[in-house]
Amino acid sequence: MPVPYDVRQVEERWRQRWEAEGVGSVDLDAVDPSDVFYNLAEFPYPSAEGLHVGHVFRYAGVDVYGRYQRMAGKHVFQPIGFDAFGIHTENYALKVGEHPSSLTARTTARFRRQLERIGAAWDWSRMIDTSHPEYYRWTQWILVRLFEAGLLYRAEAPVIWCPSCLTVLAQEQTERDGAVCERCESAVTQRAMTQWFLRITDYADRLLAGLDDLDWPERAKRLQRQWIGRSEGREITFGDLTVFTTRPDTLPAVTFLAVPPGHPAAGDTRPHPITGASIPVYEADYVVEAYGTGAVMGVPAHDERDRRFAEEHAIPISDADLLEPSAAASVGAPATRYRLRDWLISRQRYWGPPIPIVHCRDCGAVAVPEDELPVLLPEVDEFRPTGTGQSPLTAAHGWVNTSCPQCGGPARRDTDVSDTFVDSAWYFLRYPSTEYNDRAWDPDRTAKVLPVDFYAGGPEHVQRHHLYARFVTMALHDLGLVPFEEPFPRIRIGGMIVKDGAKMSKSRGNVVTPDDYIDTVGSDALRCGLLFSAPWEQGGDFTDAAIAGIERFFAKSWKTITGPDGDPADELAMARSIHAVTEAIERLAFNVAIARLMELLSEVGSPASKRIFVRLLAPFAPHLAEELWHRLGEPFSVHTQPWPQYDGRLLEDEEVEIVVQVDGKVRGTITVPRDAPEPDVCEIARRDVEALGTDDSRVVYVPGRVVNFVTGSDG
Ligand SMILES: [Zn+2]
Ligand SMILES: [Zn+2]
Repeated sequence: MPVPYDVRQVEERWRQRWEAEGVGSVDLDAVDPSDVFYNLAEFPYPSAEGLHVGHVFRYAGVDVYGRYQRMAGKHVFQPIGFDAFGIHTENYALKVGEHPSSLTARTTARFRRQLERIGAAWDWSRMIDTSHPEYYRWTQWILVRLFEAGLLYRAEAPVIWCPSCLTVLAQEQTERDGAVCERCESAVTQRAMTQWFLRITDYADRLLAGLDDLDWPERAKRLQRQWIGRSEGREITFGDLTVFTTRPDTLPAVTFLAVPPGHPAAGDTRPHPITGASIPVYEADYVVEAYGTGAVMGVPAHDERDRRFAEEHAIPISDADLLEPSAAASVGAPATRYRLRDWLISRQRYWGPPIPIVHCRDCGAVAVPEDELPVLLPEVDEFRPTGTGQSPLTAAHGWVNTSCPQCGGPARRDTDVSDTFVDSAWYFLRYPSTEYNDRAWDPDRTAKVLPVDFYAGGPEHVQRHHLYARFVTMALHDLGLVPFEEPFPRIRIGGMIVKDGAKMSKSRGNVVTPDDYIDTVGSDALRCGLLFSAPWEQGGDFTDAAIAGIERFFAKSWKTITGPDGDPADELAMARSIHAVTEAIERLAFNVAIARLMELLSEVGSPASKRIFVRLLAPFAPHLAEELWHRLGEPFSVHTQPWPQYDGRLLEDEEVEIVVQVDGKVRGTITVPRDAPEPDVCEIARRDVEALGTDDSRVVYVPGRVVNFVTGSDG
């Protein structure tokens, strides 16, 4: 059933009016700090393919949540921008043979049109683009501050090299246990190179401890804990070689030692500290530590990987008895190790902010003074990676040769650029302060607006972007530059959308762009069709049948709201609906909220009920709701109306609120019918908790009060 209004015309008209009247923006000077709600979606990198429907699913959820918060009385700050610097953009530029700067301008413009057309209430007045000098000036300023604090340093180290991207990569930018490049899937190799690192390992314990108090999905916390990978063990010396082990009890069964490739001890032997036996030292790819500290024990009898290695190299397997716990505790010295390595940020590429350091023969590495920032990325025609381990900037002689800020003598600029994850590690600090050109962020503004109230992220960012942003914020906090340590106290992870049961890809021919839908059925139908298809945190399958169902709902809504007035609605039914829609939005169950709106429609007829319905509809279908509000003769805009209220006493006897806990910690509440049987209550709670990423758990129910999930894991 086609909707009985001109979708394109209606949607375009209201979007222009919102933009003209600044419905999406908020005066950050005028608002009270306690009323500001910083509603943040991860900004996109402007890929050549444009926005896809997966983006729309994620952004529509963020937008519904923000619009709801605005109607509920918050001053919602919902900015958007572009993560436009970096290897993604540059690789595409290389593929199509276009300079990244002109390519970025084009893809960014297209993304902006698409982001506007989905009808989200972005505050475009505070848009940022990480490739603009007015942004990356401050990326460089942060690096200078970290350099001065000793947190940015240069060192030779074995690094991961992508032979296709022709650059080094951070450990986090590899996949399949560090075997392939996450961007191009080429097998990576190791090289020894002098590179720039950020000292994130200094913060490993704080990054771990801070996780405990964050309102994040349990799964996201677990992934970050695993990534940091703290392990307690002992350091044991074999002659001059120190090894780290978490199993000192297996010491009697050691039959070999393993060191990283290239280690000077490889091929030698060392006598065993207890038995005095001569123990061979082997090179092994799996020893990934930095030079000199990376030796590990080989205990084939008690470790599967060691057993395979021993069999491959014909090393004997010892069945010596394990040490008693008391004896194992006294071996060597206690030590703590982390899987996390320092963050390698230099790239031998073109499309990024030049690292703001000059190299002087007399003074060494010297930071570029603050008043000389930004170090502009020089315009060069030849932006291709050289493959020599030197960035293309090396060839820009006029730019490279400069004078030392310290002694005035001849010096050379650093020719590497910083990685794109540095750009995105602080962008949330910039949004509220975009009008200030003389500071990265304004202290008062920052104290007022930050930290971020709600951050909607993607699962792919838990180990990288979220971790880096936490580290940079902690470091800036320690330098007295921001008044908090955790930028994202509350994160929720959006699910992935597939189309007709399959991941969208060119080879399958099932890629649909948001434009295809917005041109035909409109943005409202696309937003609601996507959100109705799957729980936002889980994701799921999106079909055209869902869109058709939404179109029928819209047509019926139109007929009901613009039709003749009917009798007063049943007060209890209205209260139930308002309560149910509100509660569903609060827990991001947008599919449930839309279903309740569909049910509610049969109750709507009186003028009062029509006004309630349209306001409840507004976050989901912002254009249609605005048009219907207008047709009801109500003043512009529906989006600045108060959220519908109901008399809570009406529902008092019907429902009971149950606290949901995970391992004894409160994770939320659910509201259930007072007489709901135990299995139903547990099922509702479990769905709620699964959205938080907790699985494999046992449940304890205290009737009418608490559901506690016991995971039995250490986190
Ligand atoms: Zn690559
Ligand atoms: Zn000098």
